[in-house]
Amino acid sequence: MHTDEITNWLKETDPARLDRLYARADSIRRQYVGDVVHFRGLIEVTNFCVRSCTYCGVRAENLALKRYRLSRAEIMDCAKRAAMLGYGTVVLQGGEDYGIAPAWFANIIRRIKQETNLAVTLSMGERNEWDLAEWREAGADRYLLRFETSDQELYHKIHPSVPGHPTRLALLRKLRQMGYEVGSGVMIGIPGQSYASLARDIALFRELDLDMIGVGPYIPHPATPLGNGSLALTLPPDEQVPATEDMSYKVIALARLACPDTNIPSTTALATINATNGRELGLQRGANVVMPNLTPVSCRPLYEIYPSKACVTEEPTDCSQCLRGRVQSIGRRPADGPGNRRKLDYRPQPQFAF
Ligand code: SAH
Repeated sequence: MHTDEITNWLKETDPARLDRLYARADSIRRQYVGDVVHFRGLIEVTNFCVRSCTYCGVRAENLALKRYRLSRAEIMDCAKRAAMLGYGTVVLQGGEDYGIAPAWFANIIRRIKQETNLAVTLSMGERNEWDLAEWREAGADRYLLRFETSDQELYHKIHPSVPGHPTRLALLRKLRQMGYEVGSGVMIGIPGQSYASLARDIALFRELDLDMIGVGPYIPHPATPLGNGSLALTLPPDEQVPATEDMSYKVIALARLACPDTNIPSTTALATINATNGRELGLQRGANVVMPNLTPVSCRPLYEIYPSKACVTEEPTDCSQCLRGRVQSIGRRPADGPGNRRKLDYRPQPQFAF
């Protein structure tokens, strides 16, 4: 694909040109996924993690962090709450936690599917094929696993791999074969991320034909090697992508142009760097999904992948009302139903030159 054109957009600073990009993304969003906004309730089921990602605050080495794992009853309560609030989906997310036994978790997925009409999305890291197959069998509909960056050298520095484990890209292919809807994405402005590599990330979204694309700004966490400066991944300033709000909108808009029929959330990370109207602007520049938090308020501050996360104190009912209000304030409406991807039979070639 035309990654040079994508790179040029990522470097664009002229406000009038950027307005044209955002208007184009908004019109493609309306044409392909409509004016409705899907609500996916996020349940952060565990902050235990065996991995050592150098950007993430819940990495195993962060010994200062108090760890929690929700009980079956707590997860079921959150899911029932999602159904009551009219959401179409729950997203069960967590660290890569082998204290989450596959059969125990499969049972919870089965109960959610039996007792509600919710779609179930999982985001539990790089679990092995058998666990992923068992959870799919139990009724899980979708899986989110960001590839974080398509630059393999950078990837290994920010995401130390486990010898013998398949890569995230290989796992995404497996998940698709198992019949999951598949979501992926990247962080924007991670140290060492160049404009050219971020442009390739966006081209890869299209190659992978993703059902969901999650992108958000990188936010440094002081208890991590990348956040405290002990791991310095420096690029010349004209090559390093900044982790800014504007860059986040550009990537959302370009992802929409590349993948017109995909579901794209306006993420919590975006709301964290612009609490006033970051979510609304994301929705007006290509996104069509929001992810209100359902995690019990007592645990929420502990799911600290990055600091000062938006909405850590609001009760789920308040999150729901707040987000509904924001969606309606920009002339959009909450969707009914699970909000699966409605895949086009034919994908036109994306146009980046205009
Ligand atoms: N363990 C799961 C879920 C991780 S949290 C997994 O690895 O897939 C979900 C996403 O949060 C990650 O994929 C990453 O892109 C994002 N994230 C983690 N740390 C972050 C940080 N410091 N700033 C911004 N986003 C971050």
